[in-house]
Amino acid sequence: MNIYDSQRMGDLAAEAGYREAIRVEDADLIVLNTCHIRERASEKVFSELGKLSELKEERAREGRRTMLVVAGCVAQAEGREILRRQRAVDVVVGPQSYHRLPQLLREARVRPGVVDTEFPADDKFSRLPTAPTDAIRRRGVAAFVTVQEGCDKFCSFCVVPYTRGAEASRPSAAVLDEIARLAGAGVREVNLLGQNVNAYHGLDTHGRSIGLAALIRAASATPGICRVRYTTSHPNDMSEDLIRAHRDVPALAPYLHLPVQSGSDTMLKSMNRRHSIADYLDIVGRVRAARPDIALSSDFIVGYPGETDADFGQTLALIRTVGFASSYAFKYSARPGTPAAEMSGQVEEATKAQRLTALQELIEDQRQVFNRGSLGRRLEVLFEKPGRREGQIIGRSPHMQSVFAEGSRSLIGELTEVEIVAAEPHSLRGRVVSPAS
Ligand code: SAM
Ligand code: SF4
Repeated sequence: MNIYDSQRMGDLAAEAGYREAIRVEDADLIVLNTCHIRERASEKVFSELGKLSELKEERAREGRRTMLVVAGCVAQAEGREILRRQRAVDVVVGPQSYHRLPQLLREARVRPGVVDTEFPADDKFSRLPTAPTDAIRRRGVAAFVTVQEGCDKFCSFCVVPYTRGAEASRPSAAVLDEIARLAGAGVREVNLLGQNVNAYHGLDTHGRSIGLAALIRAASATPGICRVRYTTSHPNDMSEDLIRAHRDVPALAPYLHLPVQSGSDTMLKSMNRRHSIADYLDIVGRVRAARPDIALSSDFIVGYPGETDADFGQTLALIRTVGFASSYAFKYSARPGTPAAEMSGQVEEATKAQRLTALQELIEDQRQVFNRGSLGRRLEVLFEKPGRREGQIIGRSPHMQSVFAEGSRSLIGELTEVEIVAAEPHSLRGRVVSPAS
């Protein structure tokens, strides 16, 4: 979602007369779009700001003014504190008010140190300019589209409800207009985004609330769009209709990122996830019944407060039971203001590190197994860009695997049938059979 937001801020800047700089040294406007989800991501912002403040001084000595903006969830969470820690910052803007960026920049030119971390009532999306066609083309044939933002679930470890605010869905017509515009500029795949995307409940043109499955059907009917994805989903919002869409909508990619966080019911309860492992396995069963070749992925947190070796063992067991195509694992990071940060039983760093290594090994093994399962198969690959080597092109399989092959650049943007001939550590090697569409 930060990629999408950054692109939209780029569109706002373009409208205000800026062009993209190739090197940061040449930039008159620098926006750091930040993530607050774990401490390490947050702290990186301040070290980066240190370097940028030196650059700003250097440019000032050459008579060039640099506007420095901190956007995103760190901006939302830290607000004025950012100005206290780094005086070179001109604007601090939260994720719900970045549509005001041009105005904030004008204010900051007169009086640097403007902070906007409001959750304004006006609809951010309706105030954003449409992306220029050349910008869409530069960004490639696969695009993100935010359809839902924020979260009301308040998992005990997570800052999202505080930084992104309450759950809200964009009206379907606005989303579909954006997709049609992207498709008109050459986009072939859209990834519908939301912190809980499957809780999507946007209004249609008749004022009726529609769910994600209906939105996916409409998106996949957009001329030019040949593949639709969505991320990230919460198990409790995995509706029958959405599961059916995996069976019935050919353009919907057979890939589902469905974070479970832990394999222990005790941990899930303490995390306030409001579902059990049995519920999760039931969903996995129903999704696989609907779409047997679906690739599943998940997020896991290790070292959550109170997590014992036995709890952790249950996470490993769950992973073995399900068999994921890929997954992400994180050490629990205590976030200020969240209930889990105050819980007793905080786990030592060394234990977290050990568990993370063990988990990552298992995830990696499963990824390799999944990738080897693709050997000899023919997959539809959407080629996205030239590869590093001359004559190579790179794209993604329906299951989100990175695939490279020898082929003409004219295949970029074409859904192409590819026979998988080798599984390398980070990608699959394929042989182009024929354009599939
Ligand atoms: N809404 C999605 C869900 O419920 O699964 C997840 C959104 S969150 C932005 C992405 C992932 O970050 C989570 O699935 C979780 O694994 C991880 N995460 C969130 N807070 C964390 C924390 N305090 N420490 C470590 N990982 C965290
Ligand atoms: Fe965070 Fe996801 Fe839980 Fe919402 S549902 S609080 S975004 S982890």
